[in-house]
Amino acid sequence: MRYCTGYNPVPNLLIMRILVTGGAGYVGSHCVRALCDAGHDVVAFDSLVKGHREAVDARASLVVADLGDRGRLNEVLGGETFDGVMHFAAFAEVGESVKDPLSYYQNNVVKSAVLLDAMCEHGVGRIVFSSTCAVYGVPPSAPITEDMPLNPISPYGRTKLAMEWMLSDCANAWGLGAIALRYFNASGASASGAIGEDHDPESHLIPLVLQVALGQREKIMIFGDDYETPDGTCVRDYVHVDDLAAIHKTAIEKVTPGAFAAYNVGTGQGTSVNAVIDASRSVTGHQIPTEVVDRRAGDPPSLFADPALISCELGWSPKYSEIEATIESAWDWHRSHPRGFAE
Ligand code: UDP
Repeated sequence: MRYCTGYNPVPNLLIMRILVTGGAGYVGSHCVRALCDAGHDVVAFDSLVKGHREAVDARASLVVADLGDRGRLNEVLGGETFDGVMHFAAFAEVGESVKDPLSYYQNNVVKSAVLLDAMCEHGVGRIVFSSTCAVYGVPPSAPITEDMPLNPISPYGRTKLAMEWMLSDCANAWGLGAIALRYFNASGASASGAIGEDHDPESHLIPLVLQVALGQREKIMIFGDDYETPDGTCVRDYVHVDDLAAIHKTAIEKVTPGAFAAYNVGTGQGTSVNAVIDASRSVTGHQIPTEVVDRRAGDPPSLFADPALISCELGWSPKYSEIEATIESAWDWHRSHPRGFAE
C-alpha cells in the first residue's frame, strides 16, 4: 500500500512549478504557452513520439522521456519542488484504439498509474487531466451534462474513463486534488501564430478541410449525411485550443486537495460537418469539394456540451464562440505552416 508522505508546501499561486506531460502535443503545447505567459515555471515532459520539439515554448524546459520511465520521472519530480501536474500524454485516435486496444491501455492507463505513483511519492498533490467527451459514448441527448451516464464506446474513451476513476480513487486514498476536463473537439491555433495543430497522419475535420483549401488534398470526405441531425451530418462542439489552455491554467490554480471533479469543456454550440465546411469556404475563399462516403464507425450523431457547471464553478467561458473565428485561427496557422512543424 502506498502512502503519500505529505504534500509540497501550499503553492504560491502567482508562480507555480508545473510538469506538463505531453507538453509538445497539440493541446499540451498551447497550455505550456499559457502557463509561461502567466509567469509559471513549466517543465514539459514528452517522448516526442507524437509531439513536436518546436511546439514547446522557449520559456519552458523540455524533458524528452517516456511517461513509463519511472526513473526519469523520479529524477524530474525529485529534483525540484513541483506544485502540480497537467497530464496530456496519451494516444488519442478512436479508430486506432479499436484496432490496437492494448497499446491504448498500456500508454494511457498503465503509464498514468506510473505518473500518479511518482506524484504520490514526491508529494505532488495537484493534477489537471486531459479527459474527453468520449467518456459519455452515445449520450441520451444533447447538450451533454456531467451527470449523464458514462458509457464510452471505444477503447480510447474507456482508457480516459479508467484514468478518471484512478484520479477519484487517489483523491479518496491519499488526498490528491484532481480535475478532469472532458473536452469536446479541440480546434484552432494559438492567436500568437507560433503553434497549431500538426498530427501525422491527420484525421481531424478542420485541418483536413484546410488542407483541401491549401491544395494538399483534392476533396473532403463527409462521413455520412443520413444522421438524425438537422442537415444529416454529425454535430460536434468545436472548442478553441486557447480557450482550453485558459481553463487548464485556472483549473490547476483552483484544484482542491482531496477532491476529484470532472467538467465538460465546450462552447455549448453544436456545429455540423456541413457547417464546418461552409464556414471554411467563407474563411478561405476556396470551393472545398466534398464527397459523401459511409459513416465512420463509432461516430455518435451529436455531441455538444452543456458548459454550465464549469462556468459556474470555475468561472470559465470561451472567448471563441463563433466557428468562423476558430477556423480563421487554424487557417492562419496552416497557411503559414503548410507542412506543420516540419517547415
Ligand atoms: N469527419 C468527416 N470527414 C473527415 C474527418 C471527420 O466527415 O475527413 C467528421 C467525423 O465523422 C465527425 C466530425 O467530422 O463527425 C469531427 O471529426 P474529428 O475526427 O475531427 O473529431 P472527433 O469528433 O472524432 O473527435
